[in-house]
Amino acid sequence: MNLLYEGKSKQVYESGSPDTYIIKFKNTATALNGLKKEEFEGKGELNCAISNLIYDYLEKNGVKTHLVRVIDPTTIEVKRVEIVPVEVIVRNIAAGSFSKKYGVEEGTPLRNTTTEFSLKSDELGDPMINDSQITALGLATQDELDYMRSVALRVNELLCELFAKCGIKLVDYKLEFGRSGDGIILCDEISPDSCRLWDAETNSKLDKDRFRRDMGDMLGAYREVLRRLQSVLA
Ligand code: 5GP
Repeated sequence: MNLLYEGKSKQVYESGSPDTYIIKFKNTATALNGLKKEEFEGKGELNCAISNLIYDYLEKNGVKTHLVRVIDPTTIEVKRVEIVPVEVIVRNIAAGSFSKKYGVEEGTPLRNTTTEFSLKSDELGDPMINDSQITALGLATQDELDYMRSVALRVNELLCELFAKCGIKLVDYKLEFGRSGDGIILCDEISPDSCRLWDAETNSKLDKDRFRRDMGDMLGAYREVLRRLQSVLA
């Protein structure tokens, strides 16, 4: 297969079809914009399985995603898209950069769900960017931003409900979108790499913060997320 692009946690290959790509999930975990990096045997498989379960669930609930089919435990075929170069971050509970930037204690519930955009740029550290700046730079149109925000909020309703059934609080997460022949669709992955997930009873972290903050047993936490999703979605 012809490798088209290698990111921090995934490789993208040509599929032989003009309409699709092949994505392979890697075992690499990165943090601090790639400065901290480590291999975890089995991580790619866990993220692939978790993301596929979530994308199937979202599709069943009317959200269009890039997922076409699962090829093997770390490989999927996805619709070919032009990635919109902004990430959408959704927050239900203060944590991470929000807590730091605004001086709000981690774990403080937010009175409403927040959405924000950040520029997809490793060199610049994915800086936050607002609607008028995005449209001024021609990165996306206002209609596209309104649509992505509305999909992100629908995804939030669906995922909060799903994770609540798993005994997990959905603290925050990042989404990426792409332009396809079918309009704008959800791309990339939704996994404990891209979400903050806390156990509903103990607030124990079940996501990549275990790696970012040197808490240990990241894979145990990812396995637990997969186990709970499988039992709820069975
Ligand atoms: P924060 O802005 O607090 O660092 O991140 C907010 C949420 O978005 C967290 O769940 C975090 O995992 C996710 N997130 C933000 N930027 C990225 C990114 O570049 N890659 C990944 N995988 N997740 C991100």
